[in-house]
Amino acid sequence: MVDVAGQPNFVPYITAWSSERYVHPAVVAHPRGGIAFPDESLYDRDGDGVLWARMNSAPNIGRPDFGRVHPGRQRRAMRGLLCQVCGGPAGRTDGGVLWLLKDDRGDWPGWPEGMAATHPPVCAPCAARAARLCPHLRGAAVAVRVGDCRTRGVYGSLHRPGGFAAELTVAADDPRARWVLAAQMVRVLRECSVLDLAVAA
Ligand SMILES: [Zn+2]
Repeated sequence: MVDVAGQPNFVPYITAWSSERYVHPAVVAHPRGGIAFPDESLYDRDGDGVLWARMNSAPNIGRPDFGRVHPGRQRRAMRGLLCQVCGGPAGRTDGGVLWLLKDDRGDWPGWPEGMAATHPPVCAPCAARAARLCPHLRGAAVAVRVGDCRTRGVYGSLHRPGGFAAELTVAADDPRARWVLAAQMVRVLRECSVLDLAVAA
């Protein structure tokens, strides 16, 4: 996102910076099945026990790389239901948590009910700003109130004995989750209602 002078002025919390790179320790077999790092720390796994890809943390250093997401900040925002743009609490009412989505209402009847979202929610001020400034959302964004986003999963690389197998999204309680090196946390959006963006803000 750039302002009229072409300068980045609006860098989402989850965006990776040019100074932030994946660190790739060798993945080894876990004694109880699945994969592990040989020097694992508590931070390498989420509360569901899934192993996460490592990326160094150096936000605001270098250039924002809008095409990449920082796995640590994405996970923190998704897990804590923080705004993906500012990192503060996401918008929330009795009706649920606020999400800003690309408007794909033609994709399936009842969209976005059941969507596996990789982008965390937003707060109301950031929803209005992102809908205006974010190139892929401009004129094509819709605000959604999500009553139930309890079901979690991860998007990442499925490993098998002998090596890497595929990129996929799995539910956190799927037995294959032990074999995934996660890059993004997923929440399944249910009890969704589409809002007028002006009302959401
Ligand atoms: Zn925000």
